[in-house]
Formats: sequence, structure tokens, C-alpha cells
Amino acid sequence: MSESSSFLRKINGDLWLVEDERENMKVSYRIKEIIFSRSSPFQHVMILDSYDFGRMLVLDGVVQTTSLDGHIYNEMITHIPLSIHPEPERVLIIGGGDCGAAREVAKYEQVKEIDMVEIDQMVVDVCKEHLPAVSGNLSDPRVQFIFNDGIKHVQAIRNHYDVIIVDSSDPVGPAKALFEQSFYKNIYHALKDDGLMVCQSQSPLFHRSVMKETIGHIRNLFPVCKVYTATVPTYPGGFWSFTLGSRKYRDLCVDDFHKDTKYVNQSILQSCFDLPEFLKIE
Ligand code: SAM
Repeated sequence: MSESSSFLRKINGDLWLVEDERENMKVSYRIKEIIFSRSSPFQHVMILDSYDFGRMLVLDGVVQTTSLDGHIYNEMITHIPLSIHPEPERVLIIGGGDCGAAREVAKYEQVKEIDMVEIDQMVVDVCKEHLPAVSGNLSDPRVQFIFNDGIKHVQAIRNHYDVIIVDSSDPVGPAKALFEQSFYKNIYHALKDDGLMVCQSQSPLFHRSVMKETIGHIRNLFPVCKVYTATVPTYPGGFWSFTLGSRKYRDLCVDDFHKDTKYVNQSILQSCFDLPEFLKIE
């Protein structure tokens, strides 16, 4: 099941995952066990069992989600747009191979279709099997898995979705184009006239230029563009941004949130839009 991975190192007899894609900061996790390690046509996929974060999904040596805090990210990227839209029936998730976002979307009875367009089937298969704390063994019949490039999917669809969630990995490899203006233009047109989109827009501290560019792309297209934040310990610096674009709805206040969640609640739905001074980007 496993093949050796250059992302893992033995240090003083212990196994460590050393995330070293950054030049000046390396984050390391002490690993108990390699559950799965193999290359797909798109990336190297691992499920590792770590000491402090439990099981984690690692793509090309970078931690994507963990059993400890995956729910924070997945609840924030889904419940904000789904509770703002009054009647979300058709939802598209781009990326999201760990299935955590789809699991949250499935909590909305009014949602009739959940299209999940993930480029890499291996990620979905291993997360369903080995990462149940995040994927929840997702088996909702409304979820349709489409193994394709999200770029191509939105190029071909017009005026169809109520909510689009871009749950991408970092802007390298297959996810690079998911941070470009032309992609957001197609997202805009794939939404219905009152549709909403949200994407993860990286760290406000460590990826400031990517975040600003992403916000700029969305602001150029959508009449309403709002940034919100959450703390996700797994991601560099812990402080993470999301950007929402709305074609019609301006009122982002939600006053009757009653979902079975571990992180999101009524007051977080409102306070997440309160930004520190340095994040109030013109
Ligand atoms: N929550 C995570 C984070 O912020 O790091 C990311 C979640 S998810 C694992 C990201 C997924 O996006 C990966 O499974 C990857 O295969 C998928 N992906 C990357 N590029 C893609 C593309 N062009 N089209 C569809 N899925 C893509």
C-alpha cells in the first residue's frame, strides 16, 4: 500500500513530516504511522497518523487537512455562503477531495445537487477510506463526483449553480489556475443571477500578494465582495482568509443558524467579517 516518500525524514530515530516548501520557515509534524503513500498522475498523496493532529491528508508534502482542525476550515468555507443564500439548491465544490466540504453542504435539506469536481480521484478514495474524521465516510446520494479539472468544468457551464465553493490546494501544480482572473470570470457565469461563491484566499500574513490578487479578481466581477477569516492551526500562521463574491445578496447577516456544527455558530457567522485594520484592503 505504501511507497517511501521524500517528504518524510528520520530525526533522532523519530519519523517527521517536514513541510519545506517555504524558504525561511519549516513546519514539522512527528508522525506515528504512514497509512498511505503513493503518487497519483497529479501529485504525491499521503495519509499520515501524527501525534498532535491525528490523521492528516498530505499532498506533495504539504498538509491539507487534519482530524484535529479540518472541521474549522470545512465549516467556514461552506456554512457562510449556504446560510446567506436563501434557497441553495445546486452547489458546486471545486477541489475539496477530502470530502469535508461536501459533508457540510449535505447538512442542508434544501440542497438538491452537490457536484464535486476534483481533479484527483485518489484523494477522494483515500480520504473516504482512511480519513473518516474529515470525510465522514461521505455517501450522500446528492453528491455527484466528477473527476475533472475545475477549470474545464466551469468553462462549459452557464447560469446553473446557486453556490460555488472553491476548496483548492495552494496555488502550485494543478491548483495554480484556480487563482487566476479567467477562472473567476467563468465562476461568475456558471452561477445563477443571484449566486454566491467563496474561495479560500490563503494566509493574510504569509501569502499577502496571492490574497490581494484573489480579492481583486473577485471584486472586479462581483458587486459584493467580502473577506472573512478563521483560525486554522494547520495552515501557516494559523490565521486564514476566505473571500466571498455575491452577484445579488448584499445582506450577509444570518439570524437563525441551527446546524450540527463544531465550530460555526450564530455569532461566528457575523463576527467572521470583522477584519483587523491591516486587512481592510482598498
Ligand atoms: N483545505 C485544503 C487547503 O486549504 O489546503 C485543501 C482541500 S482539498 C484537499 C484541495 C483539492 O484540490 C486537492 O484534493 C486537489 O487534488 C484539488 N485540486 C487541485 N487543483 C484542482 C483543479 N484544477 N481542479 C479540481 N481540483 C483540483
